[in-house]
Amino acid sequence: MAKDTDQTFPEIREAVRKLCARFPGAYWRALDREREYPTEFVAALTEAGFLSVLIPEEYGGSGLGLGAGAAVLEEIHRSGGNGGACHAQMYTMGVVLRHGSPAQKEAYLPKVASGELRLQAFGVTEPDAGTDTTRITTFARRDGDHYVVSGKKLWISRAEHSDLMVLLCRTTARADAAKPSDGMSVLLVDMREAVGNGLTIRPVRTMLNHATTELFFEDLRVPVESLIGEAGKGFRYILDGMNAERILIAAECIGDAKFFIDRASAYARERQVFGRPIGENQGVQFPIARAFVQMTAASHMVDHAASLFEAGQPCGTEANMAKLVASEASWYAADMCVQTHGGFGFAEEYDIERKFRETRLYQVAPISTNLILSHVATHVLDLPKSF
Ligand SMILES: Cc1cc2nc3c(=O)[nH]c(=O)nc-3n(C[C@H](O)[C@H](O)[C@H](O)COP(=O)(O)OP(=O)(O)OC[C@H]3O[C@@H](n4cnc5c(N)ncnc54)[C@H](O)[C@@H]3O)c2cc1C
Repeated sequence: MAKDTDQTFPEIREAVRKLCARFPGAYWRALDREREYPTEFVAALTEAGFLSVLIPEEYGGSGLGLGAGAAVLEEIHRSGGNGGACHAQMYTMGVVLRHGSPAQKEAYLPKVASGELRLQAFGVTEPDAGTDTTRITTFARRDGDHYVVSGKKLWISRAEHSDLMVLLCRTTARADAAKPSDGMSVLLVDMREAVGNGLTIRPVRTMLNHATTELFFEDLRVPVESLIGEAGKGFRYILDGMNAERILIAAECIGDAKFFIDRASAYARERQVFGRPIGENQGVQFPIARAFVQMTAASHMVDHAASLFEAGQPCGTEANMAKLVASEASWYAADMCVQTHGGFGFAEEYDIERKFRETRLYQVAPISTNLILSHVATHVLDLPKSF
């Protein structure tokens, strides 16, 4: 294993590593082949309390900061596993914690902390809106003590494995709102009641095992008590949670990069070609060293963004930059690792091709690289807006 330049939360990391050792490559390969959900792994993480680290102690969690959540996810990814099946259970509750009523917090957070309720579906993206979230059209019309929801969502991960979903929808049409970002609201949808009663879930098969889906709403009735915060202000509530999501996903990228660097270094030391280890050639060494340099730099950016978040400081730019550099570092490391392994980089049993496919996602989701660059260009560098 490559030497770590930082060792935050050593006890948490050690415990996560031990847990992950029970779920080796063969476990993830079998699931990947069938596109199945890692139920046993998620149950073990839940039981060990790793998915409730960010929930305050008064609601049954560990009350730790974002850095602790980042350490958990980084170690899962470094071990060769994937946190994508359940990372949202850690942070989706943030919208209830920050904007829910006292009654909603009491009703949901202790059960999310214990794992009795899975709150890990986050319904924002729509096929016709893309990254321009203000163009979403899924609409919740008030009808007495219910909202009646119609529309569709795409790429909603873990919807089939969630009891609750945070849904962003319009309660005022874009054309009638004072600003494009006004008029959107957050509903906490009970999936157990919704499916078959106005909500249809259709799985979307992708290049990685991510349990992602398409959702169709046809006059789904949702009680008004499910509204989080004030109607019309949902976009702002969602943005808060996105910073946490970007920082945690950046930590997963750091874990992926470490996985690739560990594997490539070990292979380069052992594999003999032309009568010597391939790692003796600088043409093989330097890409591994470069991957380590990039990962280390990105890791510091992730820590910086996480400390700002923990201190309650504005961190939108830093969270975005952390996600950008970490996703690029993990992708560079993935490509390097395949190259270092030659033909074996393509063999399923090495887990490298699987992790290569998995880490590619993070330059597109939860936000694509171009949109981050656009944010930095216009919000930090004061360049003219292009859209
Ligand atoms: C496996 C997977 C899981 C996901 N899970 C979820 C989930 O659980 N919940 C959820 O709500 N969403 C989810 N998403 C959606 C994800 O957040 C989006 O795919 C992502 O934000 C990119 O949006 P888009 O696909 O609509 O791309 P588009 O907005 O259509 O953009 C396509 C490309 O064009 C570029 N582009 C667009 N506009 C501009 C511009 N003005 N300037 C420069 N470049 C531009 C983008 O950078 C991108 O590369 C998931 C996606 C995937 C693939």
